[in-house]
Amino acid sequence: SKAEGLNRLHVFEPGLLLIRRLRSQLLEDLRAAIKGEGLVLHYQPVVELGTGQIEGVEALIRWDHPTRGRIMPDEFIPLAEDAGLISELGLWVLSTAVGQLRRWIDADLVDSRFSVRINISATDLQSLQFIEDVRAVLKQTGVRPAQVVLELTEAAIVRGNDLDRYSLGGLRGLGVGIEIDDFGTGYSSISYLRLLPVDRVKVDRSLIEGLGTDPSQPALVAAVLQLVRACGLEAVWEGVETAEQAEHLRNLGCLSAQGYFFSKPVPPEQIPALLAQTSSQ
Ligand code: C2E
Ligand code: CA
Ligand code: CA
Ligand code: CA
Repeated sequence: SKAEGLNRLHVFEPGLLLIRRLRSQLLEDLRAAIKGEGLVLHYQPVVELGTGQIEGVEALIRWDHPTRGRIMPDEFIPLAEDAGLISELGLWVLSTAVGQLRRWIDADLVDSRFSVRINISATDLQSLQFIEDVRAVLKQTGVRPAQVVLELTEAAIVRGNDLDRYSLGGLRGLGVGIEIDDFGTGYSSISYLRLLPVDRVKVDRSLIEGLGTDPSQPALVAAVLQLVRACGLEAVWEGVETAEQAEHLRNLGCLSAQGYFFSKPVPPEQIPALLAQTSSQ
């Protein structure tokens, strides 16, 4: 009825205004954080299943907001995307993560096979400026390009037009690694796997959730591994939370994995201790 409609309007409008105000305040805060302080990268080990050694880390962003406390990326990355802040954010992540790798190399903590993985947004991928940024950061830090691996979601790549493919090719031309993130969650055909200039896939954790409980799951994992290898690629398995899952993956011939079972994402100060632990095993 008309009365109800009016009522709803009254309830709704202040709510929308509030959300809009919160949003624009949050954006202002995020802009300030990118320029100043508050953003931090945590690093989660990627482990070689055969040896237990750490072969690299994934950089994962967090935002320590002055009044709201820690905000996780799933909450503010979409906001940054919408507001056109993602390029600035992406550049910050890139230079911070590669700069950190440089310091670990200089401190002799890691060798030349150790890689840092960086999450790249679809917007970054579509910007030619991003390739230039990667080139500049590599030059400035003198890090071997192969030690930098860019993670792109299936969705970002498949949204794929020619420009995306061009950007991927351009990035790969710099010598950096390219990895498809969240593999297995997309809706698209898998035929693109063979066509795209990528090196590896990171299999989404939903594909290993049932390992150790669901008897049909090992066969599925084996099939995915076979598929990935048939395309000339290698797989990294994420979201490993239990010893059973790790053991299953190892027995199935999987090479690399990541997850809370090995380590949560940690601040960079904690990485040396983790490296020391695993190399002495
Ligand atoms: P993602 O790239 O798929 O990252 C993996 C997420 O799973 C991380 O959440 C990580 O903390 C979490 N995780 C790791 N091991 C386990 C496990 O064993 N079990 C479970 N349940 N979860 C695990 P986080 O750090 O909250 O990041 C969420 C997403 O935000 C990332 O998903 C990525 O898409 C995005 N993101 C994070 N950092 C960045 C960044 O610097 N730039 C961009 N563009 N996106 C980022
Ligand atoms: Ca990732
Ligand atoms: Ca993922
Ligand atoms: Ca994800």
